[in-house]
Amino acid sequence: MGQEDRSSVTYGVFKESTQQESRVALTPDIAVRLKRSHVSCLIESDAGISAGFSDDDFRQAGVQVVSKEEIIATAQAFGFVERPSADLIAMLPAGSWVLGMLGSFTDEGYTAALQDAGLVGIAMERLPRQLSAAQSMDEMTSQNSVMGYKSVLVAAQEYGSFLPMMTTAAGTIRPAKVLVLGAGIAGLQAIGTAKRLGAVVTAYDVRPASREEVESLGAKFLDLDVDFSAGQGQGGYARQLTEEEQQAQQRAVDEKAAQFDIVITTAKVPGRKPPVLLSKAGVEGLHRGAVIVDCAASDLGGNVEGSAPGMTVTAGGVKVIGNADLASGVATTASMLLSRNLADTLAHFVSEGGALQMDLSRELDDALVISGRKEGRD
Ligand code: NAD
Repeated sequence: MGQEDRSSVTYGVFKESTQQESRVALTPDIAVRLKRSHVSCLIESDAGISAGFSDDDFRQAGVQVVSKEEIIATAQAFGFVERPSADLIAMLPAGSWVLGMLGSFTDEGYTAALQDAGLVGIAMERLPRQLSAAQSMDEMTSQNSVMGYKSVLVAAQEYGSFLPMMTTAAGTIRPAKVLVLGAGIAGLQAIGTAKRLGAVVTAYDVRPASREEVESLGAKFLDLDVDFSAGQGQGGYARQLTEEEQQAQQRAVDEKAAQFDIVITTAKVPGRKPPVLLSKAGVEGLHRGAVIVDCAASDLGGNVEGSAPGMTVTAGGVKVIGNADLASGVATTASMLLSRNLADTLAHFVSEGGALQMDLSRELDDALVISGRKEGRD
């Protein structure tokens, strides 16, 4: 029996439906990997084009390139970069599995919609990231790393001067001063990237443990003169600050941010609205030509008051860029990473006999399965 004959779970990936999304949830190398886990793959024609993968690349990896309708009719599990729309949910067969960032912390209605449709929802945002078995499934880490890297490139592109110090015959240009707010996965990647480009980097995070990480990358830790010594919450994440703490922090950040040329914000608290670190007044305090990239900007709001996806320019000439799919801007590698994250998550649920199965007594399953919490179909 050939390897293909033994594959008994069929995994389908569609072309992402929003125009600004260039990533794809499956890459050819990962399809080969999935075959070894008894999973065969279907992909919609042209799904990988904007990420740099042609239909032929997929065919050579043993993936069947088919229509959206055929995927819906054949696959038992579906992987997504962006969660499926309500229209697509209505088309997917009951009992099938949906893997992606499902927004379950902030959108209970969506989880209910999956449940009502009889779909098994695997919410990548709920991964218990501290488990060693979960490391290769950690989409949040992989995509936030890409985002942190890209945020600096976007800022450098918009900034009207050099990031490194530059000595020219016409004079010496001082290096750009970059402030990174939030020094988690994205923030540390932003610090490293800005350092490599020659900027002078300062960073801040509410978790006391982050000081050492910031300094080990050669950046300076920003002292806000406000005590958040209890800023660390459960599982190594930040806790949500109280209203008074947030206000004190915002005042301090507003004041200190004025001296920087570029501000990158990446502060988040899992499952909550991102904290506003920089108020409108703080933004207006930056000099003309300064650039702010708000990586936390989303439908829930961001770290910068008034930031919105895309770029806005204030009356004072400060450019404020809201996270408009920063990870999608590094589409090839971002897709390879997230494709691996999704594939390893899917493979976790494929039984020895090649069927989709959950076992809610396992910590990973219990955390990830948000709807259809029962035995999966074969
Ligand atoms: P995240 O995206 O939820 O938050 C980004 C950063 O924002 C965090 O560092 C957080 O402390 C910071 N932040 C939150 N509120 C803030 C505020 N008011 N002011 C300033 N900063 C604020 O988190 P993340 O980047 O995914 O990871 C956060 C932590 O979790 C890190 O320590 C990371 O090492 C850890 N982590 C561990 C694992 C693992 O165990 N495998 C995996 C991923 C992340």
